[in-house]
Amino acid sequence: MTMIPARVSPSVVAIPATMRALYKHHAGPELKLDPVRVTPTPGPRDVLIKVSKVGLCGTDRHIWEWDAWAASRIPVGITTGHEFVGHIVKLGSAVSKYSVGQRVSAEGHISPGTGFSARTGAAHIADGMVILGVDRDGCFADYVCVPEENVWPVHPSIPDHVAAVLDPLGNAVHTVMEAGVSAQTVLVTGVGIIGLMAVTVAKAAGASRIFVTDVDPRRLALARKLGAVEAYNARDASGSAGWIEHLRAQTHSGVDVLIEMSGNPGAISDGFSALRPGGTAALLGIPSKPFAFDLTNHVIFKGAKVLGINGRKMFQTWYQMEALLLSGRLELEDIITHQLPLDQFAKGFGLMQSGEGIKVVLDVNA
Ligand code: ZN
Repeated sequence: MTMIPARVSPSVVAIPATMRALYKHHAGPELKLDPVRVTPTPGPRDVLIKVSKVGLCGTDRHIWEWDAWAASRIPVGITTGHEFVGHIVKLGSAVSKYSVGQRVSAEGHISPGTGFSARTGAAHIADGMVILGVDRDGCFADYVCVPEENVWPVHPSIPDHVAAVLDPLGNAVHTVMEAGVSAQTVLVTGVGIIGLMAVTVAKAAGASRIFVTDVDPRRLALARKLGAVEAYNARDASGSAGWIEHLRAQTHSGVDVLIEMSGNPGAISDGFSALRPGGTAALLGIPSKPFAFDLTNHVIFKGAKVLGINGRKMFQTWYQMEALLLSGRLELEDIITHQLPLDQFAKGFGLMQSGEGIKVVLDVNA
């Protein structure tokens, strides 16, 4: 990785009164780029960040497409986006820890900070969580405001296009580290963006052999390139019985660890079928609605340990992620398939929808 200066000018930065922002302009599909949005002013404990690069996320795609979840959650008028890197340009009056010019990203989940969960090391699952670009104005803009507590200084050796996607990488790191994969056989069900990231993270964290399933041949091939020893197409003619039998024959009647990234009911059931007795399942994929699941055989009789994974631990996951990135063992270049200027956002969402793009990064400075 090339060294990138951590700071721009240390002096005071002039901030324009208006900026560009990609926002939800109506209760329906698509987003609009507003060229004259008022630039936010940091509160006493906030920092104002000039955004350099942002990542398009599945969450943003839901907001773009305006599905049932988005319609029930997203306020019209909000600036979208939660994955970014940029430089601090202004500090709130009470901010003590950071300085103007520092290159930073941020945890997009803003915890209330004073309740039981936040005070017992579980801020990432606290009630009353506010999410950047979902509940308050996000980072698809020239400037974004975040609380000081959420700021993550980016190590100089981490390039901008990687620093822009620390949020989803953190999801993968949280899932893999929580499950514990060292010297374990691992199955990743669903190799979209975060599933592919989980493959490279699991390999870097010492998994013995990694198996994956998906329905997209291109993503299966990429998972192999990232280190999976077997990549099963769940739509193969032999059906799930075929690959599960094949996987069981190569392991102790199933993998030690299931990393579930698809949220697909069939893939979840198949994943548990491929988990050995006493194995650990870490679930990050979100099913779109409740579904029937064989708890008796998949969990109780099997003695499976089941972990629900939400967001990133604040900030244990971030330190683990930095350590993994600095080890040089994560392979992210093939996962970040496209980088486009901010004003080509519609093309970016199209690349996600067609499946041609995996991770799309928008350059706000371009
Ligand atoms: Zn995201």
